Amino acid sequence: MKHDRRLVEVALGDRSYLIHIGRGLLRDAALMRENIPARQVMIISNETVAPLYLDALKTALGERRITAASLPDGEQEKCLESMLPVFDEMLVNGFGRDCQVVALGGGVIGDLAGFVAATYQRGVDFVQVPTTLLAMVDSSVGGKTGVNHPRGKNMIGAFHQPRAVIADLAVLETLPDRELRAGMAEVIKYALLGDREFLDWLEGHVDAALAREPDALAFIVERCCRNKAAIVAADEREAGQRALLNLGHTFGHAIEAARGYGDWLHGEAIAAGMCMAARMSARQGWITPQDRDRAVALIARVGLPTQPPSDLDAVRFREFMARDKKNRDGELRLVLLRGLGDAIVTADYDDAALTATLEGRAD
Ligand code: NAD
Ligand code: MG
Repeated sequence: MKHDRRLVEVALGDRSYLIHIGRGLLRDAALMRENIPARQVMIISNETVAPLYLDALKTALGERRITAASLPDGEQEKCLESMLPVFDEMLVNGFGRDCQVVALGGGVIGDLAGFVAATYQRGVDFVQVPTTLLAMVDSSVGGKTGVNHPRGKNMIGAFHQPRAVIADLAVLETLPDRELRAGMAEVIKYALLGDREFLDWLEGHVDAALAREPDALAFIVERCCRNKAAIVAADEREAGQRALLNLGHTFGHAIEAARGYGDWLHGEAIAAGMCMAARMSARQGWITPQDRDRAVALIARVGLPTQPPSDLDAVRFREFMARDKKNRDGELRLVLLRGLGDAIVTADYDDAALTATLEGRAD
């Protein structure tokens, strides 16, 4: 069954790679063997995803030296300590520099496995098999890998591009509803930051996406990957426009950090963050109140939060936001909207507008 395959290229010279999107790819032996040809393969997954999909992947890969590591589930596992048993396993099994590491899971597994691949013997080949909507549209593409430090999220990491991304849309059928909705926050992000046509499309297809209609999911994953691929190709190391992908994230990260990670999902926090960015942009007079309301309404239709938690006040918000990696010389830089589908990174905004936004005022 080779129907409806989609391919997106991430153009990075000799490190270019393809994102394969389609249903049933996990069971496509030819595709898997072509992209994962190594004799020694380390599959990294977790205790939720492995029971569902590891056997299918192993079968597709066939008779090879396959070692699998299954981590406990959760963001708290995205740490240096979780990497050590994986390295042990690779060393005990005599993995050489010609091995491949495969991430089978969501963004947590993808980020950690990518960092294992970036650092094992100074870097080995890596393939992403994302299993959440968020990982398919965002984290598996672009080569940012890493783990959290107790003092900050994603503080230890490296750029390490995968050789391929293989997104089997069928695995989204088992994704919990709340995770699907959280992934939709990143989907809406692409529309708001740079793809107005996609925004129009989403307004007509949100319900289809939430109902997991195959055509809607395929369109969404392809469209988001095209957007991300273009941004990454233009600015791999985030010297400029890649920072636009942080729309809603400065506010959102503050919400996540203030609540303690795991209380609000990342997508939920950035959903509220994007609403805050839209409100602030409207306060600046950069977008119309109608455009602001359009953005907020779409996020609300997905069932995502549109306001920050009420107990997070402006002072604490600013404390958390001061730690953002985008900041330069102590200046708080924000991703804001000049229009729907047109984002900028700027430190040039009215501080009173920021305070009103942090206070959660809806006007
Ligand atoms: P996650 O990896 O924790 O997955 C969410 C949950 O879904 C987990 O419980 C997981 O076990 C489960 N799951 C995964 N696939 C499933 C499936 N097919 N069926 C059933 N359950 C499944 O979370 P996430 O949202 O995928 O990723 C979040 C992480 O991604 C964060 O650590 C974030 O920092 C990172 N991230 C990285 C980048 C990047 O550019 N590298 C970009 C965005 C986010
Ligand atoms: Mg994100």
